[in-house]
Formats: sequence, C-alpha cells, structure tokens
Amino acid sequence: MTPGSAPLTLADLPLRPELVGELPYGAPQLDVPVRLNVNENPYPPSARVRSQLADAVAEAAKTLNRYPDREAWALRTDLAHYLGYGLGAEQVWAANGSNEAIVHLLQAFGGPGRTVLTFDPTYSMYPEYARDTRTTFVAVPRCRDFTLDPQAVAAAVARHHPVMILIANPNNPTGTRVPVGVLAEICRAVDCLVVVDEAYQEFTEYPEDSALALLPEHPGLIVARTMSKAFALAGGRVGYLAADPAVVDACRIVRLPYHLSATTQAVARVALANAPELLGKVVLLRAQIHQLQRWLRGRGFTVPHSEANFCLFGPLPDAHAVWQGLLDRGVLIREVGPAGYLRVCAGTPDEMATFREALDEVLEQQGWDPQAEQRGQQ
Ligand SMILES: *Cc1c(COP(=O)(O)O)cnc(C)c1O
Repeated sequence: MTPGSAPLTLADLPLRPELVGELPYGAPQLDVPVRLNVNENPYPPSARVRSQLADAVAEAAKTLNRYPDREAWALRTDLAHYLGYGLGAEQVWAANGSNEAIVHLLQAFGGPGRTVLTFDPTYSMYPEYARDTRTTFVAVPRCRDFTLDPQAVAAAVARHHPVMILIANPNNPTGTRVPVGVLAEICRAVDCLVVVDEAYQEFTEYPEDSALALLPEHPGLIVARTMSKAFALAGGRVGYLAADPAVVDACRIVRLPYHLSATTQAVARVALANAPELLGKVVLLRAQIHQLQRWLRGRGFTVPHSEANFCLFGPLPDAHAVWQGLLDRGVLIREVGPAGYLRVCAGTPDEMATFREALDEVLEQQGWDPQAEQRGQQ
C-alpha cells in the first residue's frame, strides 16, 4: 500500500484471506422490461398506500436529528401482532431484511470453531453468512425430491455437531416445502438451534401452517420472515425473526447501534397497517406460478412442485444460452440451482405471457425440444 499513481485494486489491500477471489452478491440488476429474477412481488404500492408512506416519512423527518428507537419496539409490536400465535414484541427481532436478521444469529451463535449446517440445494446466501462470521459451513444434500428426512437431518447433526441448522421452507431455489410435522420431528431429534427461514411462507397454500406453531414447545427454534417477497416491500429492507426472548437478547448484543433507521421503521409500520392490501396480490401470484408450472411441464420440463412464487425448470443442455436468449428478448430470470436448471418467478399476467413467448422462441431457435428429448429417453 505504498503511495503511488496506480489506482488501488483489491489485490493491494489486506483483505481477509477467505475473502480473496470472492465476488459481491450479484443477481444482475438489469434495466429490462420483464424482471423475474429475484422473486419480488411485481405490484407496486397503490397511490393510497404511497401517500400514507409519504406522511409517515414526513412525520419521522421531524425528529431525524435524533437516533431512532434502538429497540424498534413499536415495529416489533406490530410484527408480533401480524404473525399472531399469541406472540409478543419481546419474541420478535427486526432488521434490514431477514438476511441481516439471520446474520445477527450467526454473529451471536457462530464464529470460529463453530459450525452451521444446511441442506443443499438451498439459498445461496447461507454460505456467505458463515464466511463473513468465520463460522464453519457444512451443507448436506436434501432428498432427491428436495424435501428433508428427519432421520437424515438428525444423522447429519450427530456427525457435524452444528450450533445451528438453517432450513429454508419453502426452499429457495427449489420452491419445495416440507410440512410443519417434519419440522417438528427435526426439532425433537436435534439439540442445536433450528432456524426455519419462511421467506415465502405467505405464498404457500396454507400460510398459517407455519413453524411458528412449534415455538412454544421448542425454545431453540427460530422462524425468519421477510417483508421483501409477498409483502411487496423489497425496497424497504425489513426482515424479522420470531424466537424465544433469550434469542432476541442475543441479537440485541451483536446488532449495530440503531441498526434500523427511523424511516425504515415508519415505512414498515405503514406497510403492516395495510397488510390486506399489500398481500392482496398473493392469490393472483400463486395462481400465476401454478399455471406456469403446468405450462412448463406441458413443454416437457421437469419442474419441482413449488409452493413459493418461483419455480425451477430444466434440465437444459445449455441453461446459460437459454438465460441469455431470454435476456436478449427483455426477460431476466435467474441462473441458480442444480446444473441445467433455471429459476423464474411469478410476475403479472402480461409478464408471464412475455416469458412464455420468449422461452418458446429461444427453444425453437436452439432447436431444442424437451418433449422430444423426454420421448427419446423412454
Ligand atoms: C429473499 C430471501 C430472504 C430475504 O431477503 P431480505 O430481502 O433480506 O429480507 C431470506 N431467505 C430466503 C431463502 C430468500 O429467498
């Protein structure tokens, strides 16, 4: 790092060795007409909700010279009320997206000499949380249908002694879900913390059928939720956990002071007060993704049964070329998941129609007919 004229590069910096060669999280953010790549809700807030948001921000602005409520107590009270199950604010922790909330868990319970265990294929951020907190990361495979077998989970826990297991349910990127009964068996069979990441819970057929129901019996269970997906508030950056108050206390130790801004807290509370409207499009999005799964299967693709607002499809001989072909037609989806598969999320009916047309064109251009391929294999 001697002063000189050449611009500094990462290689000149004393980066932690485990970060050398790493790239920042990079789902491409491209300005294309149809964006179906990060599982957002495609419907922006209505004019009515926007004006309430503006009023709340103006109100918060009156005291922006002061730090916000460090405990975000009013927001946590509203979140507890939204979740139901008799939860109170002391059982809820909020942060800038559930990514940050789960990182708080790793900061509090992980670290050198400790292990976090998850089940592949799953959310691509989990290894990053572990890397950034110097926690050992172990991923064991899910069942062939991407579900979880409690006995296999218990065996993996006995083998790797994790301090915590991370289960995305419904799982990203497969969209598959395991029933709460299976999660209950897992909680009974292991002695570590169990984090159930329910980022897509509101999209499932019975959203009230949640791991939240297991909290009273399992103090080591932590349920993570987000306002980024069904709640149509990805830009607001709000996620949260429901857990034993002692777990919340652990998060309070590691969080940065005043981590949740006054405007974030105000915006989230307006969103929660308008839950019926913001969640109102969930039924439509659920229908869109069901229809899309049927359509993709009709085209001959394998599509794991998804209960989220996205699905995987494949196998493709050249998934990247298909991804690029779609992008050339203004449709952005995601290259993620098992080799040969792509992930697409539910958009508006128009966006879905554009996706279907574009995919048909790309497949035709590439001379690839998954139906013929399937017949060939029989
Ligand atoms: C989107 C997502 C999250 C939440 O992200 P935030 O925007 O940080 O709340 C958490 N877990 C999974 C599996 C996700 O797909």
